[in-house]
Amino acid sequence: KKILVCFGTRPEAIKMASLVHELRTTDFEVKVCVTAQHREMLDQVLEFFELVPDFDLNLMTKNQSLNALSGRIFKEMDAVLESYKPDLVLVHGDTTTSSICAWSAFHRGVASGHVEAGLRTYNKYAPFPEEINRQITGRIVDYHFAPTETSKNNLLSEHISADAIAVTGNTVIDSLLWTVAKLDNDFTNDRISELESKVDFSKKVVLVTGHRRENFGEGFLNICKALAEIADRDDVEIVFPVHMNPNVQQPVNNLLAGHPNIHLTEPLDYPSFVWIMKQATLIITDSGGVQEEAPSLGKPVLVMRETTERPEAVEAGTVKLVGTNADAIAKNAFELLDNRSVYENMSKAYNPYGDGKANERIVEFLKKRLT
Ligand code: UDP
Repeated sequence: KKILVCFGTRPEAIKMASLVHELRTTDFEVKVCVTAQHREMLDQVLEFFELVPDFDLNLMTKNQSLNALSGRIFKEMDAVLESYKPDLVLVHGDTTTSSICAWSAFHRGVASGHVEAGLRTYNKYAPFPEEINRQITGRIVDYHFAPTETSKNNLLSEHISADAIAVTGNTVIDSLLWTVAKLDNDFTNDRISELESKVDFSKKVVLVTGHRRENFGEGFLNICKALAEIADRDDVEIVFPVHMNPNVQQPVNNLLAGHPNIHLTEPLDYPSFVWIMKQATLIITDSGGVQEEAPSLGKPVLVMRETTERPEAVEAGTVKLVGTNADAIAKNAFELLDNRSVYENMSKAYNPYGDGKANERIVEFLKKRLT
């Protein structure tokens, strides 16, 4: 049987890369199709996980609207489906790539499966456009790989048959553990050496990332204000790999560049990012993947969002939702930096997203269904 694994952005690539390797240990024929919705950030991941795409749609252009991107994915995916004729298309998560690739498969009568299925806020605009992407994908696909029981229950409440759902854990933990093993085995690169020489690790390192569309504008201005306040402490260094999106670049460069305790960097390649997560005392982010990874490394996370499709982490106590109010972000950061018992409670909580065996479970399920 032929499986076509489709993805396009950095987080999808990280979460699908270790699954591709696991699928390739079976008798399935596995090909990788990238839309390259992100280009550079995707390529960094492909390189580290030693994946060469079989089909590269190379669709990223500057300031492309989501509709223009969708139209081009439909057209190019159709050609790939027509020539390769897969038995199954696998998509991931909540991007334009995920929903349009699943939809393209449906139009061609090809079965499809959704990795990281069932996450929901049920708020159409938060996150935008991800919530609708994941709901559309959930309507279309035949198989749903839910990371947790909560995500399975969301799917059941949408009348998806229990027989089509497998609770697997999140594949991000598989990819993270693969990467940590490499780092523990003396893997290093230029970016890691640069961080080692520039950052003062005798201080508490606060790692920051942000890219959600819902935070563009006022949200990012508030975030920068809070970060400047945190960085004014002389026992803190902030490391902030800045997302390529101009809506992030602009406020961050305007408000934070030049602060002596803030290191703004380009987005880090995955092993460098995992390395700096391991060194960090605390992580402040609006990222989904980082919330899932950090508990496996024992790092507390403050989430700069008002809503979440990842309530498991909030319930487990590994992350705290703090929104984008500058005072709330700074106050919560100070509490974690100064109050040992609050810090220990958050950093010792268990990771609800998995044990690193999600890929195995997905492959077992597919072996039974694709006969
Ligand atoms: N990440 C990375 N380099 C960075 C920032 C994040 O490799 O500079 C990784 C991170 O470890 C996680 C993923 O990218 O696995 C998260 O991507 P992002 O925050 O862009 O998207 P989301 O998870 O919110 O969809």
